[in-house]
Amino acid sequence: MDSSVYVFVEDLRGEGVERVLDRITGYGAAGVTVGAVHHGSRDVTPHGLSRLTLRHDGAHFVPPGDLFSGLRLAPVPGHLDAFDGLREACAKRGLKLHGWTVFLRNLTLGTRHPDVTVRDCFGDRGSLTDLCPAHPDVREYAVALARSVARLGVDSVVAESLHFRPLRAERSFVPLGPMDNYLFGLCFCDYCMRRATDLGVNAEVAREECARIVGGVFDGDPAAQGEVTRAALTAYAGPDVVAYARARSETVTTLVSEVASAVAGEGSKLVFIDYTGSVKGYRDGLPTPGLAAHDAWQLGVDLVALGDLVPAFGVLAYARDAARVADDVGAYLRSVGKDREVRAILRPGYPDSDSTDRLVAKARGAKAAGAFAVDFYAYGLVPHPVLDRIPSALGEAT
Ligand SMILES: [Zn+2]
Repeated sequence: MDSSVYVFVEDLRGEGVERVLDRITGYGAAGVTVGAVHHGSRDVTPHGLSRLTLRHDGAHFVPPGDLFSGLRLAPVPGHLDAFDGLREACAKRGLKLHGWTVFLRNLTLGTRHPDVTVRDCFGDRGSLTDLCPAHPDVREYAVALARSVARLGVDSVVAESLHFRPLRAERSFVPLGPMDNYLFGLCFCDYCMRRATDLGVNAEVAREECARIVGGVFDGDPAAQGEVTRAALTAYAGPDVVAYARARSETVTTLVSEVASAVAGEGSKLVFIDYTGSVKGYRDGLPTPGLAAHDAWQLGVDLVALGDLVPAFGVLAYARDAARVADDVGAYLRSVGKDREVRAILRPGYPDSDSTDRLVAKARGAKAAGAFAVDFYAYGLVPHPVLDRIPSALGEAT
């Protein structure tokens, strides 16, 4: 069974490439998935050079000039030498190297170019972290970024945030329900509205409905109860809003298709990760009931359509329960096609796995459900004794 461990460039800089790769080889993993483009974050890193690691938005390589000349958006420079010699160091150990790429989550670019970020139903741009996948400049940037990472000689380009993102306010003392939050998170920028209109959707009515409903909660209406489903959303917000939400998948499918072709053209392959599994289980490993594959449409991700365009998928199996991991992998395979490569991404410790046995059970469940690979997230975030569970998980899964 294929496998990899997710690694941040800060891990490699802190502990040293040789030492980190030796450890990962010792776990029995088949490869490493290294963050080539990442977003800003402040993380507890239990065995890092610094125990609290501040990451900045950044691309950790020198972008090829030919790819970005004439483009408005260019990668934010990170640790430019992070990939120097890395491919050779992996090859020496027989490790595959995958390039983990965060596409549309970038506060630095959004702050410099607010017009390429999402715009809510009230006309506000309050999520400068989220670049809109419908904006032509963003789409050009995404394709060039994918080509750049592929040119590092990676076995695959692992795409994160190559779709719409959910709204995550840091503070809200308004009890917005999941459906209110969803409506508030929909993008109504000019490009999104135009695309929906082209598909026969009444975009302006959809926008007005969203503003009316969310505005009502701000004025004291009771928030909607229950999870977001197509049926519940139709009952709550009406058919125009549901049609608008569904039209977003055309924006994402065409973008992912362009990116997948670009990556293939550079001799690598795309692994597409949708964020839905994280929305559901990131906080505590207790995902909300609907399976990730069934709710991915909410972020504009049409897995059935993407199954024809993308060779491989990563499932964020952030769950404590091994049966849930298996169910998520199985549902993914049914959506994208049984011949597609589906990789289950597991967290070996807190908050998903409290023991080696539990991690082993999840790796086994993923394999039984048809997963091609298990990946472990992430080297620098997890204490060494927890990372030491990986060999058992891989031993059981092979
Ligand atoms: Zn938009």
